[in-house]
Amino acid sequence: MDPRHQARTPDSAPSNRADSDRADSDGAAVAGTAGVHCAALSDFIERSPTPWHAASAGGDLLAGAGFIELGVSQDFDSPPEKGFVVRDGSLVAWSGLPAAAATATRMIGAHTDSPGLRIRPRPDTGRAGLRQLAVEVYGGALINSWLDRDLTLAGRVTVSDGDSPSGLRTELVHPRGPLLRVPQLAVHLDRDVNTEGLKLNPQQHLKPVWGLGSDSEGDLREFLAELLGLPSPESVLGWDLCAVDTQAPDRLGRDGELFAAPRLDDLCCSYGALEALMAAPLSGRPSLVVLNDHEEVGSSSSTGADGAWFAQVLERLVVGSGGDRSALLRSLSESEFLSADMAHGTHPNYPERHEPNHWVTLGGGPVIKHNANQRYATDGEGGAAFKLACANSGVPFQEYSHRGDIPCGSTIGPVVAAGLAIRTIDVGMPQLSMHSVRELMAVADIDHMVGSFSSWLAG
Ligand code: ZN
Repeated sequence: MDPRHQARTPDSAPSNRADSDRADSDGAAVAGTAGVHCAALSDFIERSPTPWHAASAGGDLLAGAGFIELGVSQDFDSPPEKGFVVRDGSLVAWSGLPAAAATATRMIGAHTDSPGLRIRPRPDTGRAGLRQLAVEVYGGALINSWLDRDLTLAGRVTVSDGDSPSGLRTELVHPRGPLLRVPQLAVHLDRDVNTEGLKLNPQQHLKPVWGLGSDSEGDLREFLAELLGLPSPESVLGWDLCAVDTQAPDRLGRDGELFAAPRLDDLCCSYGALEALMAAPLSGRPSLVVLNDHEEVGSSSSTGADGAWFAQVLERLVVGSGGDRSALLRSLSESEFLSADMAHGTHPNYPERHEPNHWVTLGGGPVIKHNANQRYATDGEGGAAFKLACANSGVPFQEYSHRGDIPCGSTIGPVVAAGLAIRTIDVGMPQLSMHSVRELMAVADIDHMVGSFSSWLAG
């Protein structure tokens, strides 16, 4: 095994490339783009190559700020005032609790998953003297961006463990260093690619190569056993593995005012929600954050926003605090949910793809998303409440409405609004290259996000 491919421990996170202002050749910082929160977001993204890592990294952040973790099946009687619970790739956290009597709560929701390539259960394959892994596309990935990138694997692996009551143990893995690559066909063998467009068949054209030789059954399982230091590959019983980019987040641009990273959608807003919660005053109204997995595939799962888990946690918190279901429902009727997911900045090379009265600028602050057909849940009153939060924190805001002749995307907002009957406002931070393996936003908007989200929870 390549020595770079070591199992990841929480302490092995790499140094953060975005943790200081860029330096010129004399070592002096380039002025003008402070980016107070850029370094911390970069670190969170590096620690979160998959939804399961993101939920774990979010828990680490919260624990470091004094939040107490409850187990998913733990008794929620008298829950801690600042606490969180993690289930698979999802997390719910709170600061202050919905009291027994109906209490209006402000919440922020975001999602931990991102589109990309997932490893199949029987992945070992190969052809033409190259070993390959079979993959399946997860969500609406911009799959051309995955070509010719140095990728690695990350996710969770379940192994047999005689010491565990279930006989199983699940570990997070993220071997460092390039391991996989999906090579693009040479232009000499695809002469029209630049004029006719790149056509990719997800079954045929996306299998990454990861070595020389012929395919051998059990290749990946052997690799995982080595990675985890297991005595035999037979101990590896299951996995949820993603292909992930190895390039670290970094600032770019004339003055370092842009930020390029994988999975900005929606680790950026996940980070912003956690930061705001950690800064929320305990004396104010209760605050909650939910980070859900599976948004990119419709949110319908045991831990997705369209599933029952979040509502169950809310009910357990209220009942555990001495309230009843009626108190929970009254609280929800007065509460407000900020659905935070990334937004489309106006692309300078494709301005005609955007609604001409609703252009969105990178660096221009959070975007309030509107859609009359409820692809976004924002209404006039909810949008106004968020505008007030922006004003109170000195943060500019922008308003988005999709072109009428292109189908509009959606996010967790409408499903949460429907599931909990709660006022919901869809907002997000502007970015380009949405669903690419590497996305782009403005450094200043990271600070705009934390400022406006904090103001929202405090409001
Ligand atoms: Zn998203």
